[in-house]
Amino acid sequence: MQDAQNTKPTFDGLLSVVVPCRDEEQALPIFISEFSKVAAQMGNPRFELIFVDDGSSDATAEMLKKFAAGDSRIRYILFSRNFGKEAAMYAGLKEAKGDFITVMDADMQDPPSLLPRMFDALLSGGVDSVAARRRTRDGEPPARTFCARAFYKVLNTLSPLKFTEGARDFRLMTRRVLDAVLELPEYNRFTKGIYEWVGFKTKWIEYDNVERSAGRTKWSFFGLAVYSIDALTSFSTIPLAIAAVVGIAFCALSSVAIVFLAIRQLIFHNSAFGWTSTVCILFFLSGLQLFCLGVLGQYMSKIYLETKHRPHYIVAEKN
Ligand code: UDP
Ligand code: MG
Repeated sequence: MQDAQNTKPTFDGLLSVVVPCRDEEQALPIFISEFSKVAAQMGNPRFELIFVDDGSSDATAEMLKKFAAGDSRIRYILFSRNFGKEAAMYAGLKEAKGDFITVMDADMQDPPSLLPRMFDALLSGGVDSVAARRRTRDGEPPARTFCARAFYKVLNTLSPLKFTEGARDFRLMTRRVLDAVLELPEYNRFTKGIYEWVGFKTKWIEYDNVERSAGRTKWSFFGLAVYSIDALTSFSTIPLAIAAVVGIAFCALSSVAIVFLAIRQLIFHNSAFGWTSTVCILFFLSGLQLFCLGVLGQYMSKIYLETKHRPHYIVAEKN
């Protein structure tokens, strides 16, 4: 991929761009025209645009068929109903034939103008993926920003992986990163986490938040909350250990209290009868039950991880 006279590397492979779409009839024409401009900036590489229509109720599907009829580089997958952005990305990534692959939103919130920089960075070598990160969240409702920040704090505390705040699903990756991503066939997908899980060297590119080109966000507050819980439980089993920790704390505290009451009774014969000892015993038994739940949780977490059928490791290189 190295040009003889010019040291700037050239790309003779195929670039796959996966675009999940739900009700994007207004945004699609803008995206396609913007993408052609950006492709020219990248030196017109061979590319395929894979649009996944995630059960749109507007004219997105018809529009995609029309675009595809006029340009063989445009491909589409139409879902039978709405399965969610994660399913749409997975479907598109599985179909991608490219050497370099990227996932982009249809609404320009993953700015196509960043692609040439990402493309050059990947082409220069040294990294296997170039990821985009929003530096700011201007234009977003403050409650959503607050919850997103809190979510990343909790996720980073509970998970052994390091999640970058403001990270997008938008990243340009090499074939081997995509193959690794596809090795994780789990049903409850959190692609941003999967990218972290598979590893590989990543370069981050920061940008300021861009507002939607047209249409409205498809994420409700409730939808995002459910997605966050999915993310948390997909990449951390610590919540299952919480019962055990609380149980041990209860048992320990009540044991101290029981010993204290016993000594007071034996030496000073003035221990409180009735409710004090009852409460102590109650606390001890509740702690024991919580601890047992925690033990069950630990076994469950092992079963949970096994059912995901994740690979044991991902090899970056070998001779
Ligand atoms: N999307 C999708 N299925 C859904 C919701 C969203 O394919 O159920 C697509 C949507 O068309 C867009 C991208 O996912 O291309 C991001 O969605 P959106 O802009 O609504 O989310 P936000 O940017 O507000 O997080
Ligand atoms: Mg958006």
